[in-house]
Amino acid sequence: MREINIRMDTGGPPDGNQKLCPYCGFDYVHLERIEELHPTDDCSAYRVTTKHDGNTVSVAASVTPIKTSFRGRGVCLTYSCEEGHVWTEIQGFHKGFLFVDVQRQPDRETPVITKV
Ligand SMILES: [Zn+2]
Repeated sequence: MREINIRMDTGGPPDGNQKLCPYCGFDYVHLERIEELHPTDDCSAYRVTTKHDGNTVSVAASVTPIKTSFRGRGVCLTYSCEEGHVWTEIQGFHKGFLFVDVQRQPDRETPVITKV
């Protein structure tokens, strides 16, 4: 398998390659879910997720396809920030172009921390 290297700046504030929350700008962002979108013939796709747990790798696919605005392969990444914002970024291929769509999801309740 080919190795992938990503330069990660772990000291100080972000220098351009760190993802920020698009709704509040917070830099504590979690990548929660990765789904591959496997296309059908009619602008819809099956959602496929891969899970690696110990020595076991499992693959799950949705039973029915979801509607998409593109016809080719795609990927759906779900993020959250520690202020409770949740969003998905979908990259979808259609007729030679790669489109990116950001969709806000319902916010999560964040824990209220009270000082004693
Ligand atoms: Zn946020």
